[in-house]
Amino acid sequence: MTVKQFQAESKRLLDLMVNSIYTHKEIFLRELISNASDAIDKIYYKALTDESIDFIKDNYYIKLQIDKENRLLTISDTGIGMTKEEMEENLGVIAKSGSFAFKSEHEIKDGFDIIGQFGVGFYSSFMVSDIVTVISKAFGSEEAYKWESKGAEGYTIEACTKETVGTDIILKIKESSDDENYDEYLEEYRIKSIIKKYSDFIRYPIKMDITKTKPREGTETEFEEYKEEEIVNSQVPIWKKNKSELTQEDYENFYAEKHYGFDKPIKYIHISAEGTISYKAILFIPENMPYDFYTKDYEKGLELYSNGVLIMSKCGDLLPDYFSFVKGMVDSEDLSLNISREMLQQDRQLKLIAKNIKTKIKNELEELLKNNRDGYEKFYQSFGRQLKYGIYSDFGANKEVLEDLLMFYSSQEKKLTTLSEYVSRMPEDQKYIYYGAGESIERIEKLPQTEVVTDKGYEILYFTDDVDEFAIRMLRTYKEKEFKSISSGDLGIDEDDKNQSSQVNEQEHQELFEEITNILAGKVKIVRASKRLKNHPVCLANDGDLSIEMEKILRAMPN
Ligand code: ADP
Ligand code: MG
Repeated sequence: MTVKQFQAESKRLLDLMVNSIYTHKEIFLRELISNASDAIDKIYYKALTDESIDFIKDNYYIKLQIDKENRLLTISDTGIGMTKEEMEENLGVIAKSGSFAFKSEHEIKDGFDIIGQFGVGFYSSFMVSDIVTVISKAFGSEEAYKWESKGAEGYTIEACTKETVGTDIILKIKESSDDENYDEYLEEYRIKSIIKKYSDFIRYPIKMDITKTKPREGTETEFEEYKEEEIVNSQVPIWKKNKSELTQEDYENFYAEKHYGFDKPIKYIHISAEGTISYKAILFIPENMPYDFYTKDYEKGLELYSNGVLIMSKCGDLLPDYFSFVKGMVDSEDLSLNISREMLQQDRQLKLIAKNIKTKIKNELEELLKNNRDGYEKFYQSFGRQLKYGIYSDFGANKEVLEDLLMFYSSQEKKLTTLSEYVSRMPEDQKYIYYGAGESIERIEKLPQTEVVTDKGYEILYFTDDVDEFAIRMLRTYKEKEFKSISSGDLGIDEDDKNQSSQVNEQEHQELFEEITNILAGKVKIVRASKRLKNHPVCLANDGDLSIEMEKILRAMPN
């Protein structure tokens, strides 16, 4: 039998797994159980949409077995199974292989949860095992296959026998060493508690043979051991539970279990809506940016369930683009199982849910801003740009939703401020909301134009993000105050009483100005005397509608 090699990327990941950069080794069980549950979901979904298949609920379960003597831990399921080809495809390659690229060693060391970030759950079994064996019989197939691997060296596949459809994952648990204990993964109580912690809500029974003792027959003082099968998990999905029964940790575990993110969410939203539309949802606002967030690879969406059955893992229609960072799931009894992608887009129920969710997210973000400023600022560092893009790309149509969520650096406060806070500080004679755009705060601070406005006692918002000025132009006003760039021709500031001394007679220096214009030909349009300068000898101003910064960005954009 030939040993096949893993793809290069998978190999790198396996190395990492084996050398365990990840500290919570126990999560391997969460990963394997979640795969088992997915596999049963697939068969369940098939049965629900295909009348020729009978789904007898009692026949579907996950079972764990411990063989201490041989150091084996087996996770079996009665799910859809895998064909030989599927084993090659799913276990030999990392799921999202194409987008798999470690950012840098440095980030890995900083405790990035690579498993969570890339959804490469199956490989985590190598953190605790020397040999992983997968025996599977696919639904509708007569043959069964055995896949086996010792880790980075590769894997083998051969035909074998298996009576029933489903999959057994057999882990040969590593020997404990001085600094690492693996024996615990062969202890019933430990396995049971890991299941309780991470997989309690799995909808199918997770069974285990639990060792018990009873008095030996005919005696009262002698005891004997026997095993009794128990269902370990409560099987109630977390979203169907009462909020009052759940702790923050429950939500955080759910977030990790579902691979929604590799961070801890900054906020969770548990919705239980009833009335014109009934649905339940658990949504999360992440703190950190997914590594591919601002690339075209990033796909927004929420998991969509119809009465507990997963019908789509990324339903994009549930989220507006500007909230694309939100993770989570929606379950509604009002949706049809057979619904196709095209039908979903038309679905009235779905549209209502999406609208409802949008409002909830907005309110929760505002609440976060109000009650947890630090948290909000962290969130804003990660996703503020997305909110601004939202305003820009929808031509300001979402002004109401987004304007109160924006923050910019303030010349006066020396930190981020909201538009509402800015306006509340405006002196009575100030007509405009002033902003200055530039590469960095330091640069804008040094602009000659900045001085004119701040000297007047007016605050300036510093725009350092490419999108800032574009977004603000779409907003046009905030609370009826117009935005004004500090480099625009008319600042709306009474400048007459100032700078008398620096008044220059334009005529007198005509020759000098012409000479400078000639030298800078092609770089500037005209050189003029300015009334605005105080401590600076010169300043650049723009002519027309676009600011210098915007022109720069537009010019840098590919046509
Ligand atoms: P993910 O679950 O994110 O797809 P995993 O590494 O956990 O990634 O699993 C890879 C793939 O292997 C799964 O998508 C699935 O197709 C297959 N797989 C894993 N475990 C099972 C199982 N118990 N039954 C059927 N298929 C499985
Ligand atoms: Mg998985």
